[in-house]
Amino acid sequence: MTYSLPELPYKYDALEPFFDEQTMRIHHTKHHQTYIDKLNAALKGHDQFQDRPAELLLKNLNEVPENIRTAVRNHGGGHVNHSFFWPLLKKDVVFGGDIAAAITSTYGNFDNFKSRFSESAALLFGSGWTWLVADNGKLDIMTTPNQDSPVSVGAVPILGLDVWEHAYYLKYQNRRPEYIEAFFNIIDWDKANKNFKKAG
Ligand code: MN
Repeated sequence: MTYSLPELPYKYDALEPFFDEQTMRIHHTKHHQTYIDKLNAALKGHDQFQDRPAELLLKNLNEVPENIRTAVRNHGGGHVNHSFFWPLLKKDVVFGGDIAAAITSTYGNFDNFKSRFSESAALLFGSGWTWLVADNGKLDIMTTPNQDSPVSVGAVPILGLDVWEHAYYLKYQNRRPEYIEAFFNIIDWDKANKNFKKAG
């Protein structure tokens, strides 16, 4: 078994004008595909690992042979993070559900949560991700460098934002804060709610 690119659950232009069609197409067919290709290349000859869901590889990186561990961490992380990210994006979904109640109770109100999350994403140095995670039943905002996944530190992702430049450079150039603001228009809160319930 090898890993393969999951189809997007919408068209490349579905998130316009917030995330533009060309960026979505390149991000999905080139960047995400490359993580998959390199993960498959790293795992060649390691059949027992290829049969695992990629998320399990990241949860137990110490079980991965040392000579391919960094490649699995980076490219497996790239695959898992992007596979998590795409279905989280949808226009016109109203903030609601149990996740909304949990966010309000943790951060006081939505605007406070939004500014904490946005600040975290804006301040992240270099390439990485900002996450809302559930950690032992408690919501938390965290960042990971590169393609590291929260699952590698035992956290369960509820929301994630790719803040690599490749995610926004074509439309927003160096204006990361505008990209972060755009993200808040296309969060599928129903999906976030499902992630939250799965976290338990
Ligand atoms: Mn990306």
